Amino acid sequence: MNALLRGLPKVDEVLRQGAAVQLLSRAPRWAVVAAIRDEIDGLRGRLLAGGEPGLDAWEIGGRALEDRVDRLLRPSLTRVLNATGVVLHTNLGRAPLAAAAIARVEAVARGYCNLEYRLDERRRGSRHEHIAALLGSLTGAEAALVVNNNAAAVLLALAGLAAGREVIVSRGELVEIGGSFRIPDVMRASGARLVEVGTTNRTHARDYERAITAETALLLKVHQSNFAQIGFTAEVSVADLVAIGRARGVPTVVDLGSGSLIPSASLGAGIEAEPTSIDLVAAGADLVTCSGDKLLGGPQAGLLLGRTAVIERLRTNPLLRALRPDKMTLAALEATLELYRDGRAAAEVPTLVMLGAPHETLRARAMRLLELLRTRAPWLSAQVIEVRSAVGGGALPRSEPPSFAVAVTHPRLTSEALDARLRAAEPPLVARIADGHLLADVRTLTEGDLELAAAAFATTSASAQEPRVPGGPSKEP
Ligand SMILES: *Cc1c(COP(=O)(O)O)cnc(C)c1O
Repeated sequence: MNALLRGLPKVDEVLRQGAAVQLLSRAPRWAVVAAIRDEIDGLRGRLLAGGEPGLDAWEIGGRALEDRVDRLLRPSLTRVLNATGVVLHTNLGRAPLAAAAIARVEAVARGYCNLEYRLDERRRGSRHEHIAALLGSLTGAEAALVVNNNAAAVLLALAGLAAGREVIVSRGELVEIGGSFRIPDVMRASGARLVEVGTTNRTHARDYERAITAETALLLKVHQSNFAQIGFTAEVSVADLVAIGRARGVPTVVDLGSGSLIPSASLGAGIEAEPTSIDLVAAGADLVTCSGDKLLGGPQAGLLLGRTAVIERLRTNPLLRALRPDKMTLAALEATLELYRDGRAAAEVPTLVMLGAPHETLRARAMRLLELLRTRAPWLSAQVIEVRSAVGGGALPRSEPPSFAVAVTHPRLTSEALDARLRAAEPPLVARIADGHLLADVRTLTEGDLELAAAAFATTSASAQEPRVPGGPSKEP
């Protein structure tokens, strides 16, 4: 065994060989060295595991080495084609930005900007000044503040308004948004004390009224963004909660989650109604928090919309410094909000465009993808079927807008194997698997994505054409 191990090629030797020399002409040395090292480690592993590599396995080079170098040079964070039909796919980066927002980010990030500088007065300004007026005029809020995401907005609100005191929340609203954002945990982290009222399915006005004490700092209402309750349920409306709070001098905070500026039911067919941030400000909430990259369709951000006195308290909280947004976020958010101001959002904010895509547009797009697949990858069997998309992003859980998908099967690969290959394409394509078929829902693919999607199918599944094991379907990923 020792003799075999000593016989393994050395990095320096391999570097002098033809394959490596060729690679060095197009790839940085560190990547070629790392790839060779990985290949040698692989050989060592196989030897130690008792495998006897064949003679040619001792040679390091060829496609395997090239692939390894390419993988090392590929960025970790990369664009993907979303064929899942989930519009606000949190794992896929939620809302794609509008062209106007991307242009503004570039304009602001390329050089210097007036992030914290008042050009007209030649003195220091605040990053929080840029968007407050626009947010105010769009939502009706007296004042506004922007932080990194909605989780940060809720944390800041609780820490700034209720640390060391009590916050009353309905048991039906102690939600988990995903991973680590759970209302009881955020409450604890903020230093506020949670007072639960009501039951899982029903909470009444009297439950809040009885729980208010001298220790009560806030009434908190949390939107049940990502789940729905049906049956014997009752909740207290924001307007009623505000009335209860006002009578006892306690402010009401609403964590709205998604925070659309356009009535959601008008966004597209099959989309349920939920309150907008405008509705909740109008209902008298002292503070509303919502996300920038859910239904609003902007960058990741948390918006705090509220009364001047409330926003002022939050503005002076030291936590704000830790939660503040950067210039690129503010640039993208301002440009996105301008689209709403100018009546251009439905046509230019990608989230709204995808949710509002007409049935016929989706059908035509699916037919186009089918046609491309028939030309580029004729070995696949593909057909257009009706499916239902999802909004995603923990928003509108009951909405399943009707859409079209191309259902694809490969003569030799299982759907799972085809899916794995598509995820390794460049750019990767992420699809859905249902009933043994791989489904590409076209709602979340742009017209420009279709060629790339077809190319992903063509290039990644072509090599599986030749049977590797005569007579048997290949199960390799
Ligand atoms: C999504 C959501 C959050 C978290 O917002 P992020 O922008 O993801 O930080 C908090 N509360 C509710 C009700 C939500 O829907």
